[in-house]
Amino acid sequence: MPERGPLAAFSRLLLSERWRRSLLRQEARGMVLLLGRLFGTPPPPAEPVPPPVVTPDVRPGRGPGPVGAAVSGPDPGTGAERWLAALERLVREESPSDDPQAVARCCGLVAELLAAEVPGGVTEILPGAAGRGPHLRWRRGSGGPAVLLLGHLDTVWGHGAFQPLFERREGRVSGPGVFDMKGGVVIALGALAARHAAGWPSGRVTLLLTSDEEVGSETSRALIEAEARAHQAVLVLEPALGSSVKVGRKGVGEFRLTVTGRAAHAGLEPERGVNAVEEVAAQIPRISALADPASGTTVTPAVLQAGTRTNVVPAQATLDIDVRVRTTAEAERVTAGLAALAPVNARAGLTVTGGLNRPPMEAEQAAPLFAVAAAVAAGLGGPPLTGVEVGGGSDGNFTAALGIPTLDGLGAVGGNAHADGEWLDATRLPERIALLGGCLDQLLDPGA
Ligand SMILES: [Zn+2]
Repeated sequence: MPERGPLAAFSRLLLSERWRRSLLRQEARGMVLLLGRLFGTPPPPAEPVPPPVVTPDVRPGRGPGPVGAAVSGPDPGTGAERWLAALERLVREESPSDDPQAVARCCGLVAELLAAEVPGGVTEILPGAAGRGPHLRWRRGSGGPAVLLLGHLDTVWGHGAFQPLFERREGRVSGPGVFDMKGGVVIALGALAARHAAGWPSGRVTLLLTSDEEVGSETSRALIEAEARAHQAVLVLEPALGSSVKVGRKGVGEFRLTVTGRAAHAGLEPERGVNAVEEVAAQIPRISALADPASGTTVTPAVLQAGTRTNVVPAQATLDIDVRVRTTAEAERVTAGLAALAPVNARAGLTVTGGLNRPPMEAEQAAPLFAVAAAVAAGLGGPPLTGVEVGGGSDGNFTAALGIPTLDGLGAVGGNAHADGEWLDATRLPERIALLGGCLDQLLDPGA
């Protein structure tokens, strides 16, 4: 009897290419029609993007050790240890969104890892803009089906904010961005390395790692959309939820209500004033009423600022509102509802600004890719793969909104994203690499 379990399954995958192909072929039979639909039309050409800085594929070594050096424990240079070593280097190269130089150093490290682990591709470092770091684009292959692997290198953690910087205890690894989403970057490296080891049979892959996802993707959105249009499928390297991939994400909106009143002395002549605090308080229940739990729409009055001193009738108040929607129709309804707010005190003025930052990723865009991933997971011998819809947005929202099939949450298993104790389950790394690698094989060699 062969060994069971994800690690054993992964070793078999690496050792027996023929076994793997035959297994996936069996799983793939039912998907031929599906894939035909996915790849039935040739990709449109990419839209122009900023001129890249092309870096050579072989770069001088840097950092604490060679790629693949063991963190500790057995199995140096192969299997899980090889990728945990890469993960440690990536996590130690801190990359807060608001430090473009730090993100650039992290870009350089990924370029180095790609050159070492997946030779034969072309890495470009695309210059950053508006105070953000550069984006990394790596391509390999020509002709045939094309898949975009999408991720980000920035984290929500400022330098030194996460302590200790990197810690490994048995199967648990913690550090800034280890789960969201440097683990996902390493999973992509592992999947691409497996494909390289198999001789890169066919198809085209682009890996795009951006520098500003955690701050709204303002400088990368056009690039992400242009790349998505040039590929038939997008696999997003954001963390899993439990073990589940993400098939839907709510659209995310940020609005601001500004109330303009009139200042007056609170003791001498309050009647001359228009109290902005009273007005904003009256508006809050109306705003909250725009939520619709049955449709999955949330409307959250979140940040309130008002007033100057207790003896002054407040002249101004601002309220920041978080909106999450599952569908474009709901986004339009809530936007119209906010725009229609009318003052309770006719002497007060109301202004609503803002809008939807990320359109909803509707589940139908993920369905064909989820079927592929579920079949690959079944072939790996683990429990059935599940897909979930979540409230948080990602760059997958942009690509799905263009109508490009998008599956998200193919990154790491772990927890506490954006929170103290962010961690990654190192024991699950091999199976996640195998899952992503299997998806690439199915999508790039549909006839194999
Ligand atoms: Zn993320």
